Amino acid sequence: MTRYDRQIRVPAIGRTGQEKIQQATVLIVGCGALGTYSAEQLVRAGIKKVILIDPDVVEETNLQRQTLFTEADARSARPKVVAAKEKLQQINTQTEIEIFQETFDQALFREFGQLDLLLDCTDNFLARQVINEYCLQFELPFIFASCASTSGQVMAVHPTIGPCLQCIFPQLHELEEKGCETLGVFTPLVPLVSSSQVSLALRYLVAPEKMRWDQMHLLESWPLAQQTFTIKKRADCPVCQTAQQKIATQQIFEACGKVFQVTLPKISLQQVADFCQLHDYPYQKNALAVQFRLNEQTVTSFKNGQVLFYGYQTKTQVAQTLTSLQTALQTSSS
Ligand SMILES: [Zn+2]
Repeated sequence: MTRYDRQIRVPAIGRTGQEKIQQATVLIVGCGALGTYSAEQLVRAGIKKVILIDPDVVEETNLQRQTLFTEADARSARPKVVAAKEKLQQINTQTEIEIFQETFDQALFREFGQLDLLLDCTDNFLARQVINEYCLQFELPFIFASCASTSGQVMAVHPTIGPCLQCIFPQLHELEEKGCETLGVFTPLVPLVSSSQVSLALRYLVAPEKMRWDQMHLLESWPLAQQTFTIKKRADCPVCQTAQQKIATQQIFEACGKVFQVTLPKISLQQVADFCQLHDYPYQKNALAVQFRLNEQTVTSFKNGQVLFYGYQTKTQVAQTLTSLQTALQTSSS
């Protein structure tokens, strides 16, 4: 344990806390600015295992704020998770690092094994919505973090206990549509936000009973300032308040990178699976979602009624698949 001597000497951690850190597995969704900084801190702190998920390759414009990557990684367009794993393994050979070069939506169908915590290191609200659903379904806490220009937000979220992401940001759909714009990010903002995220993560791993699941921390890096707000769970939240009638938004929303999104009320995953079998569409199903392929398109249908359409060019194309899916769902439930 001598490697972690300086951390063990911190009274809040001690030998017992360090042992808890060394037994923990953390899933990091997104391996960009926040993901690389947070992964490095967890690996240096002695975490047992990190799982990294990100579909992208390293680009030159990433180097200004994404640690672990070099000019050579950008020149050879290496997958971010591959480049990150190599550097992390050089930092700590004892940490187990598992990588998936895909979106979290695709990785949902992987077996992750025992997870203690998830870190939201994504840069868009569509991915965050999937994280929120996943954590609600599997009763897993996550640490939300975001960076934009010179301001950041960090919050420990436990959707089954405290407010979920939809309670915090009721206008998620609008945020998704705005999220497509490329925002600037001030270089020192990223480690400031990432350190706050990892601080909450380690505190949860060491002393889960002391966590508060209703505190939003706003961090400002220019000029330096911090504020904390208390956020309540919403009685009418369409995501985490299951007793409430879920809000039916039959509209098709276009999110980042030609991903379309629809919310259908009262969806049954088994009905979706039956629909796939009927049409011979290859599909995968778990407790949270069904994902199926038709030609070049992929559709992920979540238990809460959220449906994501990938590979579609227009809303009209989405509407065609949607109509056929809805007809099948109505027929099989009547
Ligand atoms: Zn909620």
